[in-house]
Amino acid sequence: MSDEQKQKRVGMISLGCPKALVDSERILTQLKLDGYEVVPTYDEADVVVVNTCGFIDDAKQESLDAIGEAMRDNGKVIVTGCMGKGGDAERIRAAHPDVLAVTGPQAYEEVVGAVHEWVPPNREHNAFVDLVPPQGVKLTPRHYAYLKISEGCNHSCTFCIIPDMRGKLVSRPVGEVLDEAERLVAAGTKELLVISQDTSAYGVDLKYRTGFWNGRPVKTRMLDLCTALGEMGVWTRLHYVYPYPHVDELMPLMADGKILPYLDIPFQHASPDVLKRMKRPAHAENTLERILNWRRQVPELALRSTFIVGFPGETERDFELLLEWLQEAELDRVGCFKYSPVEGARANELPDHITPELQQERWERFMETQQAISARKLQRRIGQQLRVLIDEVDEEGAIGRSYADAPGIDGQVFLNGFSGCKPGDFVDVTIEHADEYDLWGAPVDNR
Ligand code: SF4
Repeated sequence: MSDEQKQKRVGMISLGCPKALVDSERILTQLKLDGYEVVPTYDEADVVVVNTCGFIDDAKQESLDAIGEAMRDNGKVIVTGCMGKGGDAERIRAAHPDVLAVTGPQAYEEVVGAVHEWVPPNREHNAFVDLVPPQGVKLTPRHYAYLKISEGCNHSCTFCIIPDMRGKLVSRPVGEVLDEAERLVAAGTKELLVISQDTSAYGVDLKYRTGFWNGRPVKTRMLDLCTALGEMGVWTRLHYVYPYPHVDELMPLMADGKILPYLDIPFQHASPDVLKRMKRPAHAENTLERILNWRRQVPELALRSTFIVGFPGETERDFELLLEWLQEAELDRVGCFKYSPVEGARANELPDHITPELQQERWERFMETQQAISARKLQRRIGQQLRVLIDEVDEEGAIGRSYADAPGIDGQVFLNGFSGCKPGDFVDVTIEHADEYDLWGAPVDNR
């Protein structure tokens, strides 16, 4: 077989957040449709696509290192993703002048076009179109999938450059999102993870236009989307929700078990002054009152959040307010970052930057406070029965997650010595032990 007749092979390195992972999946789906084979090693690949992350400087460095590795071990590299725009694109070209092409985020056609240009597909292999699964290529295990409902963001948080990189909010038509969800469920997905930059803003740009799904009208709106997803009989988990009043409307769906009683809300801080300087969406809301109100309706509601400590101008009093807020809010899962300047972000120009030593001290105090809260909350789980979705099974037992744990970022439930299940199974578990992050238990029927 001549070189032209061989099926062309593409390697992919996907860095960054779940949203970037969804972009990688779309690129790979298109490349498979075009007749390429996706391979897992540099050696086998005719070309390597690196999907970069440019969120913070550490992520940028990781992306540059990944490009360097792909250049060294393969030599034919196309770069895409968040670093593929503006000054970052120049930085890539300066560090790695021999990359074949640099394209920006969501530039599917451009990156696919670059692959075609440098490694033209063998058209005879169009039979491979039939081998692309209807739900597309998924980089997550088959039993869970990210469902991206929009791109971009209408906010202008001062520490963030995502709106500059990804543009204003563009919601996907609701019928298209629901069709994708249906295909995923038909292909075995048990958990849909709804992602975007701002899930509560879904449909704002389309003025909540009425779309159609299975011949019936559905509004392009978070509540209507969640109601329809709730009919699919799988777990639906919401990420990147802001604490706006209309989020209250989701509580009945959670109380009825239609969607998971779980919300990932990036609060980032609790001091009104800091939130104002961060220009956070919904910063004027009384978030504690809102949380209490939600919990009155859905007592088992699990809340996940992330915070930034040491933001410019954060006073000791601001920080104490944050700790007091944490004590009251009793969130279930919490991540905390020390503020670090991102090239191009407006927060860099704010006065009174905090020294690294003070940032570290505050981060440690924050983590200590939250760990105690988390440990206390997980202790209360002992003796409860929880439904667990199994992620992994090996000779030591099974590992899964309850409704309170999103994959990759939250805790896990360990079923030591139990391997009578497979990934994607639901197992009812009695919780026997807990630490500050994870739970251990045994299947209810096996006790
Ligand atoms: S809400 Fe703020 S932090 Fe989130 S993407 Fe938009 S601007 Fe960035």
